Amino acid sequence: MRRISIFGATGSIGQSTIDLIRRDRESYDVVALTGGGNIARLAQDAIDLGAKVAVTAYEDRLSELRAALSGTGIEAAAGDAALIEAADREVDWFMSAIVGAAGLAPGLHALRHGKTLALANKESLVTAGPLLMDTAKEQGARILPVDSEHSAVFQGLVGENPAEVERVIITASGGPFRDWSLEQLKGATLEQACKHPSWDMGQRITIDSASMFNKALEIIETKEYFGFSPDQIEVLVHPGSYVHALVGFRDGALMAHLGAPDMRHAIGYALHWPERRDLPVERLDLAKVGQLRFEAPDEIRFPALRLAREVMATGGLAGAVFNAAKEAALDLFIARKIGFPDMARLVERVLTEMSAGVSLRVNALSLETILEADKEARARVFDLKAA
Ligand code: NAD
Ligand code: MG
Repeated sequence: MRRISIFGATGSIGQSTIDLIRRDRESYDVVALTGGGNIARLAQDAIDLGAKVAVTAYEDRLSELRAALSGTGIEAAAGDAALIEAADREVDWFMSAIVGAAGLAPGLHALRHGKTLALANKESLVTAGPLLMDTAKEQGARILPVDSEHSAVFQGLVGENPAEVERVIITASGGPFRDWSLEQLKGATLEQACKHPSWDMGQRITIDSASMFNKALEIIETKEYFGFSPDQIEVLVHPGSYVHALVGFRDGALMAHLGAPDMRHAIGYALHWPERRDLPVERLDLAKVGQLRFEAPDEIRFPALRLAREVMATGGLAGAVFNAAKEAALDLFIARKIGFPDMARLVERVLTEMSAGVSLRVNALSLETILEADKEARARVFDLKAA
């Protein structure tokens, strides 16, 4: 029996992970499940999977969770300290699927115990890449990528010499606004941004896909996880989302990873690694797909991609600032307080301001300095909005 914990269990990735676990219930001993405000879902999954502890991020929801779990023998807990306490519990496999920088501290704790960390929370690598990778190395822990593009690159590198890799290409669907003009983007609504053409995901990453901020985070994620230099990392718009990534070698060969747009593929690969097992995902019928389309990305309409390059050039705390400013701007867009293109505008201003003051180019990243930079970037976004 493998002991596992799932953080962000009630979300899109968390539920897909639980779907795979349910199909093979006897193989897993579920330790901790965590969620946010969906107490009914969290409690029901904890009961069905026989978890030891269920944690909600919200302290004011603890009594509700306790009531839902009463008589089951499952512990109920709430708040940030409880999340950390649960992340410190011994397991063999830990799914990091909280959305946002809030996923960093629990994931870091899990790594400190030498666990295998299945990492969906790309924000951890963007804000604290070197800290996460160094911690894994020191502890003899392993991080397995769960983002579809990064799982695809990871699979493309099996048996290869990384020194022979010339470039990696991660694909982007282009989102619902792929062919919208700058003028049209100004009028883009929340509802339109929430309609992804090929993937079914949580609300925040869906909007990030529409703005290409998701791809911007993923460029940085690629650099931090695999150690490729920024100029080796390319983005290609591919509306069908069948090709997830390509690895290019020094002899000119390109190895592509194809699959149906279903996150259970990447989750399952990380769950069963280094083996491959049967997965309940659609098998691609390429004759039916017919054609694969590709386009160059447009950094004028989608400035997030250009900003990602600036972040990589600066390094240090720039990733934490970029991600936090993006999260705050996204909050404002979801609250209908700013327009769609304002997100990139605010993020760029905060990045410029904070690069001009105290240098973001610090050498040693710590959780404390990262959280401080994160807090300041969020505050600046709200100040700029108010001004
Ligand atoms: P989601 O919004 O569907 O779920 C997020 C989960 O995190 C929920 O369980 C929620 O309760 C919890 N959560 C939210 N805020 C929290 C906080 N402050 N503290 C503790 N828990 C909190 O998100 P998702 O789409 O499943 O994405 C999860 C992560 O996986 C993100 O980092 C995302 O970028 C990444 N990812 C998602 C997909 C996808 O297909 N959904 C694909 C690739 C990568
Ligand atoms: Mg992705």
